[in-house]
Amino acid sequence: MSTPVLRGELCPGCKAPIEDQDGCQDTAYPYVIDGQVTWLEPLPYGNPLEDWGSPPDARCHDCGVALGHVHHWPCDYAKCPNCARQLLGCDCDMRSEAEVNRTEGTAA
Ligand SMILES: [Zn+2]
Ligand SMILES: [Zn+2]
Ligand SMILES: [Zn+2]
Repeated sequence: MSTPVLRGELCPGCKAPIEDQDGCQDTAYPYVIDGQVTWLEPLPYGNPLEDWGSPPDARCHDCGVALGHVHHWPCDYAKCPNCARQLLGCDCDMRSEAEVNRTEGTAA
């Protein structure tokens, strides 16, 4: 089995180093849409927005998750559930959980 490119990096979503987990344990991403925190479900590896052209590998080349499971946050192949573009570098206002909590703490 090949080693994931991101092996050893810390995933900000599940707060675990990326190894050979079947999928990221983070089940919702906090987005700020129209000033409101909105939780969106992440898209799993193998979703139709990932245009592979051929059947994808059993595990993600980048973050090592199994087909049908959620990519880790820093994965190059992860898609944004809000805009359907690449999660890394899209323009959506996505926060880490810590930042959301901090925002909520100061907003009131
Ligand atoms: Zn991945
Ligand atoms: Zn993760
Ligand atoms: Zn986006």
